[in-house]
Amino acid sequence: MLKRRDFFVGGSAAAVAYLAGAFSPLVAQTASPNFGAPSVVQVGFRRQKVGDIEVIALNDGVTRRPLAAEFVRNAPLGEVQELLRSQNLPTDYLDVPYTAFLIIAGNRKVLMDTGFSDNGGPTTGRLVTNLNAAGYRVEDIDTVILSHFHGDHILGLRNKAGQLVYPNARVMVPAAEHAFWMDDARMAAAPDAMKGAFQTVRRTVGSLTPEQLVKFEAGVEIMPGIRSVAAYGHTPGHTLFMVESRGEKFAYLADITNVPQLFARNPDWAVQFDMNAEEARQARRRVFDMIVKDKVMAGGFHFPFPAFGRIEPLGTGFDFKPVA
Ligand SMILES: [Zn+2]
Repeated sequence: MLKRRDFFVGGSAAAVAYLAGAFSPLVAQTASPNFGAPSVVQVGFRRQKVGDIEVIALNDGVTRRPLAAEFVRNAPLGEVQELLRSQNLPTDYLDVPYTAFLIIAGNRKVLMDTGFSDNGGPTTGRLVTNLNAAGYRVEDIDTVILSHFHGDHILGLRNKAGQLVYPNARVMVPAAEHAFWMDDARMAAAPDAMKGAFQTVRRTVGSLTPEQLVKFEAGVEIMPGIRSVAAYGHTPGHTLFMVESRGEKFAYLADITNVPQLFARNPDWAVQFDMNAEEARQARRRVFDMIVKDKVMAGGFHFPFPAFGRIEPLGTGFDFKPVA
């Protein structure tokens, strides 16, 4: 079993590795062998009806990263490679996609997570292009909901110049996540390699006006038809969203797993970005059990595009079956 760890406070190796790789796709690419460029999906949006609501997956791109031994914190690299090989996937690198979800409910247009905008690597930052291709403009978005404050989810709130990408949107955030990252004492105590993540939160979310920012609790209906579900562990306030209309449900699973080819198949494995591995593991099992039991359509930020699908039990874990 995993050892319980505090949220990075001791400056774990995983936390440092997290900063070295997670938000620096350029650094990751130049420091490693050339594995070629990942293929970016050509039509990067996909619509699904959920009762009267429409959910649109919007791909922001994909990052190809060398498969390092520390990517799965509690399994030998050979086992990880074996699981990839069994699915006919490459074993020396991973393609990690980024897909946000747009909810169209009546005249409401709600974006869940934001991708990178122009703050990421060359194969990211496609979300607005795909939003436009789906027939919407950035000005149309009235609400942005954030699942947690890792850079790939929040950097897209503002472009590199600091301007808001969705100028008319209020931004709804989990109160627990906000409290953690906006705590100045915690930032001061964090290892140097972690300070950048706190600064990213301050630049993107911390600079919003009180009128633009709305904090919500877990386990409540944050707007008609959208309910917040606590899934703490990946980060201290990591939150999922259940969208429901006319008895049909869609679950936005955010980072309950990184790529499901590894962490749905093996829910007890911890990706290096899980800040509290044991809490994340328990949340993953709890959420997948619930999704399977209720036969809910699911979507995940790092799921292979179109990122919509079903979760089915498989062996001691689960399988993600993308919609055809
Ligand atoms: Zn993520």
